[in-house]
Amino acid sequence: MRSTLARALLTAAGRSFMQSRAFAPRASQSLSLRATTLGVRSLSTTPRLRNLEDELERKWSTPLAKRLADAISATGPVPLASFMRMCLTADIGGYYTGAIEEGRDQFGLKGDFVTSPEISQVFGELIGIWFVTEWMAQGKQSQGVELIEVGPGRGTLMDDMLRTIQKFGKLANSIDAVYMVEASPQLREVQKNLLCGADAPMTESKVGYHSVCKYMSVPIVWTDTVKSIPNASEKMPFIVAHEFFDALPIHAFQCVEVPATQDIKPSPSDLSSPSTRTSQPTVQWREMLVSPTPPGSTHDSLRTPASQSRETPPPDFQLTLAQANTRHSLYLPESSPRYRAIRSQVGPGALIEVCPDAALYATDFAVRVGGSAQYPKAKPKGAALILDYGPGDGTVPTNSLRGIRRHRRVSPFAEPGLTDLSADVDFAGIAESALRASEGVEVHGPVDQGTFLNLMGIKERAEMLIRAAAANAKTDEAKQHASDIEKAWMRLVDRGPGGMGKVYKALAILPENGGWRKPVGFGGDVVV
Ligand code: SAH
Repeated sequence: MRSTLARALLTAAGRSFMQSRAFAPRASQSLSLRATTLGVRSLSTTPRLRNLEDELERKWSTPLAKRLADAISATGPVPLASFMRMCLTADIGGYYTGAIEEGRDQFGLKGDFVTSPEISQVFGELIGIWFVTEWMAQGKQSQGVELIEVGPGRGTLMDDMLRTIQKFGKLANSIDAVYMVEASPQLREVQKNLLCGADAPMTESKVGYHSVCKYMSVPIVWTDTVKSIPNASEKMPFIVAHEFFDALPIHAFQCVEVPATQDIKPSPSDLSSPSTRTSQPTVQWREMLVSPTPPGSTHDSLRTPASQSRETPPPDFQLTLAQANTRHSLYLPESSPRYRAIRSQVGPGALIEVCPDAALYATDFAVRVGGSAQYPKAKPKGAALILDYGPGDGTVPTNSLRGIRRHRRVSPFAEPGLTDLSADVDFAGIAESALRASEGVEVHGPVDQGTFLNLMGIKERAEMLIRAAAANAKTDEAKQHASDIEKAWMRLVDRGPGGMGKVYKALAILPENGGWRKPVGFGGDVVV
């Protein structure tokens, strides 16, 4: 049964709505974009001095906000991705990596949001089963299997997966190691306690941190990045990423029309120089940058959208449109034909979000499964399963950055380091990067989480649990528990508002097989 904590969460769910991160209304004004002209300074002395005094006295909402403001005053406005990276994973004061306020954590009732593995144990069990079916379909390799999870949170998903996998003895024996890619030292500790026991020692090496799992006594290795995990051609890596990609930093760009440059005629005395040709107006990408809000700003003056709670202090920062090209605007929006099509077909006003880290992770997964020139693999094997929220129809995410705090939508620029930030995942972009990185892989999905879990047999599994819980239920509390299990699994597949069945998606990267075998959950059958 799910832990008492989750039970408490479930029971409480009726009283206090626990926000899953996907449920930020996609308000078009969520980025409160302002046409502030960057770099333009007032020439009149008095207001300038007053600004300076205001800046000197300005109280920032968190220590991280002050650090960011100091950095911006030295370098100028920063890309949204730099802001997000600092907010989420800065050593001091980052949302995941800096110590969070006492008595709180990121997940659950006392935290900011809730995720599927924390809602029901059935979720992790079915993900475990999914990898079992891939191991069977790929020939039941008897050694060299690796489980890799990126962004494991509290470790709940891996715990539920391993508890399930250990029941498949041959697969259990074939597992060499479990790798956990985790940026947060605090969460690494939480994961170790859950998977290895609070007393289990953890040792440090050049690769990362090591301990031994309570399931099957397999070694577990924690690394900061996926790059630190060795890539050997005979391994069969099974990789899972749940609500990880949405936490990776994004860049945001807007299309603008750049007027024609002026015709420069040669001087009458210099007839040898040709006249410079008049260029046509062009449509170019401009990057959205983060800069401080004016001192003394209020939610009213910043026009914080109605979709965002005003219980936070007014945002310290805002997005502004760069007036000229930036390093990133020159190449990121040109890196995919999808972005180029938006520029030419939608033109001025079009917005896109680009996540270079997502491309790096997708590339890494594809190369591990399918090989590449640098990492040749005689036989592609393994699988990656990515579960997250974002458009499933191939469209590029726009305006999807959201801030979540205590189960409420807040401005992403309020209380940096205390606010969870996430953005829609570009599944089509992940597929593109994976296929580009390795000829040895193919991609399935994305399919809706509801479809995936239903095909994986969530109803049957949950009913077994409910029957078992009801059979043993002697007290009212125990009877309540059976009904909680029911509510929990229904929420995972519910396609209505508040449900997670439609907004969340699953995408699989598999060894290339000419498309003849679909994986289970994506329309394929179990291959024994
Ligand atoms: N998968 C978990 C947790 C999701 S929250 C669940 O569904 O419950 C995001 C997780 O990714 C956290 O564990 C966070 O610490 C980790 N994380 C965020 N950014 C990261 C990064 N850049 N590198 C490694 N881990 C990161």
